[in-house]
Amino acid sequence: MTKEHAWLDGEGLHLADDAIAAKVARKPVSATMIDNLVSGCPARYIFESTLKDMVIPLTPDDPRVRGTVFHRACELYYTKPVDARGESVDPALLQDCAKEALAEQPEDIASAPSLREWLDEACRRYVAMDPSATDVTVSEYRNDKGVFQPALEMVVTGQLPGISRRFYGAIDRLVAADPEHPERVIIDDYKTGRKEQLYSDKLRFPDFNYLRQQTIYAILLERDKRTHATGWRPIGARLVCPMASQVEYFDESTGTAQVRQMNEGATLMLNIRDAGTRRRAMADAAAASDKLDAEVKHNLYEFSPSSLCAWCPLARICPSARITGSEKAQGSFAKQPDAATLAPAIIAA
Ligand code: SF4
Repeated sequence: MTKEHAWLDGEGLHLADDAIAAKVARKPVSATMIDNLVSGCPARYIFESTLKDMVIPLTPDDPRVRGTVFHRACELYYTKPVDARGESVDPALLQDCAKEALAEQPEDIASAPSLREWLDEACRRYVAMDPSATDVTVSEYRNDKGVFQPALEMVVTGQLPGISRRFYGAIDRLVAADPEHPERVIIDDYKTGRKEQLYSDKLRFPDFNYLRQQTIYAILLERDKRTHATGWRPIGARLVCPMASQVEYFDESTGTAQVRQMNEGATLMLNIRDAGTRRRAMADAAAASDKLDAEVKHNLYEFSPSSLCAWCPLARICPSARITGSEKAQGSFAKQPDAATLAPAIIAA
């Protein structure tokens, strides 16, 4: 076999590296995995989650870098006790936390002017959001040492009924919803995209991923007696989107899809208690778990071509890539790495 870590043939992606194959075999179910295995392309998912960083270095403008730095800034900010940060969001303190988060990045990322400008804007827009999103009481959970700590970037993990693999995720922030009942919480998730969607199955391209993710987190929290003696009682979930300049939603009163322009970000409420949504989220998690079991067994991660292929880093070497003639698709396809760039990680057989 070649020295590459994986190869593509007419069926899909195959792993040639035993260590990477073993890592994939042990993967717990996660929100990203479900999204990619249920509604995305398994071959692309395995490449992006295990091989991509070997050959395509992260850049300061990568949405993953931006998201990581903003999440970390918020974590540093809300870790401070309310006596230190005040009841209302403190712009200067948040900026200090943003600088600290930036300094944790490698020098070439941290010093990039474009990332600094983006982070400044994210902090400014976050501070301008409705106080219900910013001036929150962060809940506390009991960690594995029995010590209570702020529920920020809180790991949620566990076995769910009917799902062979464990589920693993991290909640950005758990907000206390009722001082009399500390188990009643709201699950907050920061999103840093410009375009967001409030899920409805009536939209033309409904995106169930965020609602599915928060619903599964809620189910895990309810069963979790490790971090809360009685299990939590999540009453809702929110997407906190400071950078959103437009939100797509379905207007039931007119029966039409609408796009609302936003000046100061958006806080989107998600119903994580709906029984139908819960059933669907759990069925998706089970399907993803079973699918990964089968793909690991056969060492075959299938192609699932779609109109998004032009945005896939494997597009230039994938025999199944479906590239439309639209200007956007052609432009994106042209920017994807060529075979020589990908070769240290993956080749087309
Ligand atoms: S080009 Fe399309 S089919 Fe091929 S790996 Fe990427 S997403 Fe999958």
